Amino acid sequence: MTEIVARHEAVPYGKETRTTYDIAVEQLERAAKVIDLDENIVEILRKPRRILSVNFPVRMDNGRIMVFQGFRSQHNNALGPYKGGIRYHPNVTIEEVKALSMWMTWKCSIAGIPFGGGKGGVTVDPKKLSKGELERLSRAYFSMIAEIVAPDRDIPAPDVYTDSQVMAWFMDEYSRIVGHNTFGIVTGKPILIGGSLGRDTATARGVGFVVEEAAKKLKVDLRQTTAAIQGYGNAGSFTHKFLDELGTKVMAVSDSKGGVYSAKGFKFQEMEAHKKKSGSVLNFPGSKTITNEEVLEAEVDILVPAALENQITAKNASKIKAKVVAEVANGPTTPEADDILFKNKVTVLPDVLANSGGVSVSYLEWVQNLQSLYWTAEEVDQRLRGVMTKAFGEVWDTTHKYNVDMRLGAYAYAINKVATAMKLRGWV
Ligand code: NAD
Repeated sequence: MTEIVARHEAVPYGKETRTTYDIAVEQLERAAKVIDLDENIVEILRKPRRILSVNFPVRMDNGRIMVFQGFRSQHNNALGPYKGGIRYHPNVTIEEVKALSMWMTWKCSIAGIPFGGGKGGVTVDPKKLSKGELERLSRAYFSMIAEIVAPDRDIPAPDVYTDSQVMAWFMDEYSRIVGHNTFGIVTGKPILIGGSLGRDTATARGVGFVVEEAAKKLKVDLRQTTAAIQGYGNAGSFTHKFLDELGTKVMAVSDSKGGVYSAKGFKFQEMEAHKKKSGSVLNFPGSKTITNEEVLEAEVDILVPAALENQITAKNASKIKAKVVAEVANGPTTPEADDILFKNKVTVLPDVLANSGGVSVSYLEWVQNLQSLYWTAEEVDQRLRGVMTKAFGEVWDTTHKYNVDMRLGAYAYAINKVATAMKLRGWV
């Protein structure tokens, strides 16, 4: 459990009154209008094809049994088996899992990988569990969803508060149930037992590729740009690393404890070491402490929300100074904020495109598992660049074809492909 505790902090949720699922449906309906999509298809896409809700007992270290609730939502598999992470968090609800599974359908479609959308979650605060309790909970949850997952049916992966160790337990439990090693059942595993090189930094690496492509289109020299990152966890901190490599100066970063600013800029290696040692980005030598709002509204060129949902809303969207928002977090911007940012000519690189590097390398891991042939880090990196560059180009072209914001462009592109597959398969 130590690794998870060290890497993850509480992720409180925004003050939005609509559920995340309401927002996901709203985004779908907006995009459906843009492409004039058949209402029969929209009706099918509004809801996941299947949701499994499970209650399972876990014996705690003190001998007591506690019953936990978990879900697995399978939104759409027209393009291939369901794919998506499993989240452990006290705020996990069926509505959230439904929304996240829908977003996975669009994300896989945009990345051009042969998967549909799925997502799972357990309502639990893993920080309160011992390592043994976490293992028993993980095995019990996976054995409950085992009947609807398989390497050619539904392939889970890590998400908030789950990591490669949890994936190792999932894979082992499933292999035990079916009676043979089945590495391809989950992705994000440790390298030694079927993991892929490059998976740990894939999301952030993908963000780097997308930012690079956007800079080319916007004719911006990244070496002259500055950035702010909200959320210095796994995805946010590695995004700092790749922004450093691109020459962008990261001037503000934050975590759940607050933010820091430096006119000189922060270097990834120094900030990473400081956070590891002190547990927070706060009190970095020579920095000024600022609030999380100030990080979002910082005077920079690129804003990277990498923490939570609903951070850029109708309230603060007009105060965003950045010209590009690269969404590492899932769902950080509300539909109203999208409209304001579009009006203010801010380019939003939407989550379904920008953070799809993670699922793309998950796909590469799954392919390696199926053929038992493993690639070097360079080969994985090259394939990821190919996937991200193509995805960016398709979304950019669709956005300009319909003259909409990039989220709508991304959705239009994704939904068109899913809808065409549904028609080809005779579902409508
Ligand atoms: P994580 O738990 O490692 O990091 C979350 C970070 O957000 C932590 O540093 C935490 O301190 C910070 N945070 C929490 N509350 C905050 C607040 N109010 N203000 C500022 N920072 C705050 O999680 P992660 O894996 O990096 O995921 C972050 C986001 O990126 C999530 O939305 C996740 O769904 C999305 N994402 C992650 C991946 C991935 O591969 N890790 C892939 C796709 C999408």
